Amino acid sequence: MPAKKRNILQPAYMSRFVCIGGACEDNCCEGSWNIFVDKKTYLKYRNSKDAELKPAFDKVIKRFKGKDASDQQYAIFRLKVGGGCVFLTGDKFCHVQNRIGYENLCDVCALYPRVYNMVDKKLERSATMSCPEVVRMALTNRDGIVFETIEESQSASRIPARVPSLDSSHTKFAAKPAKFFWDIRLYCLSILQNRLYPLGQRLIILGILYQKIDELDKAARVEDIPAMLETFSAEIENGGLKPSLDLVENNFQIQMRLTKELTDERLKRMKLTGSGGYMECVKETLAGLECFVDTPIDDILKKFIENRENYVSPYMKEKDYVLENFLVNEFFMRMMPFGSGETCWDSYLHLCVLYSMVKLHINGMAAYNKGLTDDVVFRLIQAFSKVVIHNRQFMVSMINLLKDSGYDTLAWMAIMVHD
Ligand code: SF4
Repeated sequence: MPAKKRNILQPAYMSRFVCIGGACEDNCCEGSWNIFVDKKTYLKYRNSKDAELKPAFDKVIKRFKGKDASDQQYAIFRLKVGGGCVFLTGDKFCHVQNRIGYENLCDVCALYPRVYNMVDKKLERSATMSCPEVVRMALTNRDGIVFETIEESQSASRIPARVPSLDSSHTKFAAKPAKFFWDIRLYCLSILQNRLYPLGQRLIILGILYQKIDELDKAARVEDIPAMLETFSAEIENGGLKPSLDLVENNFQIQMRLTKELTDERLKRMKLTGSGGYMECVKETLAGLECFVDTPIDDILKKFIENRENYVSPYMKEKDYVLENFLVNEFFMRMMPFGSGETCWDSYLHLCVLYSMVKLHINGMAAYNKGLTDDVVFRLIQAFSKVVIHNRQFMVSMINLLKDSGYDTLAWMAIMVHD
């Protein structure tokens, strides 16, 4: 009987991605992650007949009780003191996989760094940039991330039992912008990849678009969204917004203050164990900005502007596709702008926060390393994704902080993302 097939929409780099295991510089089995065990695997391990693994499973797997437990997060691996999975071997391979095979790994271990979503009943696959190999695969695409629909046999890869989903034809979206999810999603991706405009300006254009969508939503005119997209698109394509965007003035003082506040907030909340890579990046950022206790803000600002001119702007001029690819990956992976139950505007704040924080870090790191190279940017994005973006609670608190301080407007975001 021919094998059953399925179609998957994915960025093309996914076809080339292979875990490099022992050769990986930041193996995902190290550090202080939450390694959740799904119910099916928990039961399998509890009933294991493997004389060596069974006592270890009993010792390190802790089951959640009551409302803390779900089918996907039914139990958790206790990590070694200081972080790291107890089953990681000296040559950095997985002992569980070596003994009982890939098919017996829990979903988290088997799937990482892949992320699956279901949009309008169609499966999508992407990957998180907390994996250094994904960063190399995804960010080096000079022509931008392209998407492909591949056909594979159903046994070719493991799919989690529960996949986050979005159904734009659901009645709850009948009078909501999400009804036009595909038109909006494709158009937003085309803006993020429109090289007529510098990347910071593309983010401002995205904000203008979200405001228009919001206005139509509030006026109960969501049916007008496709026509609005067409008119707006024509204006963008013929460069109509360029003169007014070019007039948006830099305000690096406010940009740096705002972004630094967000970064400080992250550092205050951070568990230091297992965040070594990110802590290194932070140290380099502060050293490169010559930001020490009691350094006057004007001196830091001077250094920021100097680093921007010497390192960041020349790199972005030649390689703004690197950060473009980072944003496009985030956008697709999170089913923006309607995924994860956030509002359209919240997803916009999320992208702007990521972009501005990444740029602040690379500004300092560039000076510390006496040059901005792919290696520096890739190292930052991987560590930042692992520690900052993976922490959903932190991202929500950032957005709340912006809202509480009244910084969640397009005018403030335009300052934050200005290149
Ligand atoms: S981080 Fe990525 S490349 Fe490294 S071990 Fe994990 S999956 Fe493999």
